[in-house]
Amino acid sequence: MSQVKKIALLMKNQKNIRNVVLVAHIDHGKTTLSDSLLASGGILAPSIAGEARALDFLPEEQRRGITMKTANISLIFKKGNEDYLVNLIDSPGHVDFSGKVARALRIADGAIVVIDAVEQVMAQTETVIRQCIAEGVKPILFINKIDRLIKELKLSAKQIAERIEIIYNNFNALVVKFAKGKNLPKWRSSTRDGSVVFGSALHRWAISLPIVQETDITFEKIIELYNKKEEMILQELLPIEKPLIEMIIDHLPNPIDAQKYRVQTIWRGDLTSSVGKAMTECRASGEDVPLIFCTTKTLRDQHAGSLVLGRIFSGILTEKTEVYLVNSNTKAKIQNAYVFMGSDKKRINNIPAGNTVAVSGLGTVHPGETIASISPKELVPFEDIEYLANPVVTIALEPKMLRDLPALKRALERFDLEDPNLIVTTDEKSGEILLLGLGELHLETVVTDLSEEVACTTSPPIVIIAERINKSSTKINSELFGSKVSLFVQPINKTQPISEEEQLQISADGQIYIEKFKQYNNEIIIPQELFSKLSPETKEHIITGVKDALLTGPISSKPVFGVRVIILNFSTDNGEKYEHTVPLLRNAVWDALRNGKITPQEPVYRIQITTPTTYLGKITSILGKRRGSIVDVRTDQDLLIITGDLPVAESFHIDHDLRSDTEGRAFWQMAFDRYESIPKSEAKNF
Ligand code: GDP
Repeated sequence: MSQVKKIALLMKNQKNIRNVVLVAHIDHGKTTLSDSLLASGGILAPSIAGEARALDFLPEEQRRGITMKTANISLIFKKGNEDYLVNLIDSPGHVDFSGKVARALRIADGAIVVIDAVEQVMAQTETVIRQCIAEGVKPILFINKIDRLIKELKLSAKQIAERIEIIYNNFNALVVKFAKGKNLPKWRSSTRDGSVVFGSALHRWAISLPIVQETDITFEKIIELYNKKEEMILQELLPIEKPLIEMIIDHLPNPIDAQKYRVQTIWRGDLTSSVGKAMTECRASGEDVPLIFCTTKTLRDQHAGSLVLGRIFSGILTEKTEVYLVNSNTKAKIQNAYVFMGSDKKRINNIPAGNTVAVSGLGTVHPGETIASISPKELVPFEDIEYLANPVVTIALEPKMLRDLPALKRALERFDLEDPNLIVTTDEKSGEILLLGLGELHLETVVTDLSEEVACTTSPPIVIIAERINKSSTKINSELFGSKVSLFVQPINKTQPISEEEQLQISADGQIYIEKFKQYNNEIIIPQELFSKLSPETKEHIITGVKDALLTGPISSKPVFGVRVIILNFSTDNGEKYEHTVPLLRNAVWDALRNGKITPQEPVYRIQITTPTTYLGKITSILGKRRGSIVDVRTDQDLLIITGDLPVAESFHIDHDLRSDTEGRAFWQMAFDRYESIPKSEAKNF
């Protein structure tokens, strides 16, 4: 039987499907590991995998690796007598911001978290675990670079075992911490049952405790082989794919089991409706089972034009069928459907729920779009993919030549769609084009890429200060000239989802109308029942009133960020008028925000600096001068790993200080961590 036929058959056997993504802190070995796995699926020549980086230097036509790293690869593995279809999702490239990880997680059910045994849990490791939990994706653990513990740190077998224990205990502690209060299964990894695997992606071997017991190969033996420089034998004794595939198959859920709890974390519709049931049960066929497909990204393909990647949550995806794009409220036709097998993509038709797939014919589609065979009126779309990285810095941008403005706008539209962490917007007051991003460096990279197409000038970066609430308000009832509104506000934060009680309060049947304001990450929710009773003018006036209130907050007139306004009721006995409704809504929203204890807040980065021990004093002083602080210092041989907090407003040009004060020997990473109230002494600077 051909591979495609085998895949087509396996796609129908949902219990034997695993949708898996690899995630890690940068440089911990995700790319090397994914190349090794691809090789064992028979796609790359074994001699190429393991020297993953070599792929990047191959001539264009041979750069198979590149295709693979941008698509979802379907691999067939055997365990016992059974075949399994492992969809390795969007194995991300070397440089990637966390937004792309968030997209990949949307269509996965399980994640292998790769942790470097020397560096251990780092800032991004925490971030990816948090993201997994936010998407309801089960994380399991691969501890990589064990060869470094042997060759560089010269650890004994006992010390290696101790280190592995420390890492998996830390990993489990993070899983428990982030999953607290969430309606998810209790996930723990353990060496005993093989849900923790350790090895060397570079030398292509791996082992788990069950395999130690099966083979009698111990760490003493592995150390001995390294000492004799015979480590290559390990590739045959302990092939890397065996424990990994066993871990994927035995410890990651199939789509039927995963969708039972995942759908409620990524979809806010009524779980008891026919659509809700079709999705939670991962149903492929039957009456009332619509096609529902969630997209993650659009690829440009030489032959097929644009290819949209995504995951089918219910129904069967069939070529040449008409579908709705729910968020953008348009219709399109699916032309062809494909799976990726290595560098090749193969046509495949009638793909059931639980699978990942690429389709042509839809054009460029926003990541996170809901594609469905039923009309947008009947369907609540998937939750937006949550990017933990908030935009915290902004710059204004204009073309050097005014005639280039249309070209600039076209280019920016594309950048906006392709980069999940970038927001392109126009200042409502000045009309300037604004770019909002993760930091100074992120926006610099965007502007450099943009300048290749259109010459432009930019303003210096400014930190985004916003008024924010930390808790939900109580219900606010307001009245003005005979019009009445009742509403409440809550912070938009996946860690505090709408409670069941509030969900009931919003709408008995779970149908809601949502209007989102991308720039400041705010939204309005109106129960469908109320929404359908309002005239178009009233709807517009309500939305204008809410937008007005959020654009200039009640405390410092800064924009309000990350707030959901839930309108519970609106009525008028005096004929609805613009001049009544807009101020009524504005004041009610302000009251609710004050009730939710709104304050002006600034974004703070978590910074992690690796440096020789002699520079601790210098680094303490650099952070101190910038209102930063040190949270943790860890030593590893003669290196220090310093973790600290740094207000984004104080982070500009820190690279210069860090480089010159440490003679270029410090390496660092910064990522958004949280918002904090601005200290009184600093208020005048904002
Ligand atoms: P990614 O950023 O997580 O994708 O990391 P890469 O796979 O690109 O690996 C980063 C660096 O670590 C590269 O230089 C790899 O060769 C190296 N590396 C990866 N796995 C291992 C390993 O098991 N042992 C050692 N010694 N180096 C490794």
